[in-house]
Amino acid sequence: MEKILRYFSVLAMVLSLSVASTAQTRSSGGPISQNQEAFNVHYYDISLRVAMDQQAISGHVDLYIIPDADTLTKIELDLVEEYRISYIETGGRLAGFHRAGDKLFVYLADPPPAGESFRVRVAYSGKPPVAVRPPWDGGFNWSKAPDGTHWVGVSCQGEGAQLWYPNVDHPSKRPDSASINVTVPEPYFVASNGLLKSVYDHGTGFHTYRWKTRYPIHTYNINISIARYKTFEKPMTLGDGSTMPVVFYVLPEDIEKAEGLVDMAIDMLTRLGRYYGEYPFSSEKFGIVQTDYLGMEHQTINAYGNRFNYTRINGEEFDWLLLHEMGHEWWGNKITVTDWADFWIHEGITTYTDALYLWDRFGPEAYHAKFDDYRRRITNRQPVVPGEDMTSAEVYNLDIYYKGAYFMHSLRFLLGDEAFFETLKAFATDESRTYSNYTSTTDFRQFFELHTGTELEAFFDLYLYTTDLPQIEIGQTAKRQYQISIPNISFSMPMDVAIGGTVQRILLGPEPVQVTSPDPPVVDPQNWFLKSDN
Ligand SMILES: [Zn+2]
Repeated sequence: MEKILRYFSVLAMVLSLSVASTAQTRSSGGPISQNQEAFNVHYYDISLRVAMDQQAISGHVDLYIIPDADTLTKIELDLVEEYRISYIETGGRLAGFHRAGDKLFVYLADPPPAGESFRVRVAYSGKPPVAVRPPWDGGFNWSKAPDGTHWVGVSCQGEGAQLWYPNVDHPSKRPDSASINVTVPEPYFVASNGLLKSVYDHGTGFHTYRWKTRYPIHTYNINISIARYKTFEKPMTLGDGSTMPVVFYVLPEDIEKAEGLVDMAIDMLTRLGRYYGEYPFSSEKFGIVQTDYLGMEHQTINAYGNRFNYTRINGEEFDWLLLHEMGHEWWGNKITVTDWADFWIHEGITTYTDALYLWDRFGPEAYHAKFDDYRRRITNRQPVVPGEDMTSAEVYNLDIYYKGAYFMHSLRFLLGDEAFFETLKAFATDESRTYSNYTSTTDFRQFFELHTGTELEAFFDLYLYTTDLPQIEIGQTAKRQYQISIPNISFSMPMDVAIGGTVQRILLGPEPVQVTSPDPPVVDPQNWFLKSDN
């Protein structure tokens, strides 16, 4: 989620409170039903009219479905019960359906052939759930721009896309493409994913904006924002010499600030591209849309609600929120997990990326200061990976950001910069782990083990699957003689130890290591690792 990475402690408090007090009744992911496991929606074609004065939507969604077997007589979809279904049609005939809470079951008269695509149209209307505290509580955000005109957003990472269109709300069930066609009155503009194919003028004061993305996409990342947006655009030159548009859909009163943010985006895209490979959706755009909620990593149309509150380091400015959402274009959007249990791969590595950018642009001091900040935010109340087949609500907490990021920080130290960054880039550009493919914590570990020749299971287990932290024990055995051990872990890790005026790298674990030092040695003075006393 963009959910976030906070630069300011006050904002972090707001986030913590929000997480603590949000009893999410709706959630995505968890164990997938046998029925939903047995088919894939490979393409969503969404056609909606948004009535902003009435705070309502109406229209239809065509779901293009491929069954695994030719025995599919029923399909289970997710759509919140607030909507009224007008009709459901497939193969030119009305289909029977029934609803049970937020589930919508559609009956197929003749089971469609396995492996072949068929279309189901769901026509519906109603008042969408209203987001109370977006993006943490999802739903529609019926705001007003400063000039009093409508300013509409949607966020639904936690509760799922079921808040606004029928879909299979599970991270393992992403379509390979989507069309988003939205009709609004003049002079409103609809910003969405991918490319704007056309704007159809109905001649009645209404326009239909037709967007299309041809990349695999999370259903929660399919998104719309509506306002009297102006478009600010600059080309960015890619590695092969071609260009990609970097586009900001901005409120008219902020158009003069657009260029500054777009220039920051180009700088960030360039730097992140060096670590993770080029921006993943370059045949469409890098898009930013101004929203009245803080942010969300909507693919190719990142929500930006940070109101140009830039962070200054060494007299230079950057936007932490834009940076965080952009990081998700790699970690979350290009690289995706099938189970929210592994949510940290989206949030923790993106939060790591936020710090890595500081290293790249401002140097090691800014990077380490960031980790001092992260360390103080870690709660360690439950393991980062708390189980299997988890829902977003069961997993979502601050530690998937901060402890996840800290884990990457430690892994970097453990492997050394060369091996760590080479492997991370190899992973982020591996075809079998990106776009229409998926990853997991186990897959991530095995990739690193294979590429670096390092056994990592105990290290991953300690920091991701438990709340234990290494307990460093230092005892004096004689004059100028000390022994150091970590009795509560079962393996050894290289750690820096400050002895007198110098720093030595020593393999520390359960077996005591003797050192000669004029003063008590200090283990891991730069805090590369989370330890029980820090
Ligand atoms: Zn995030």
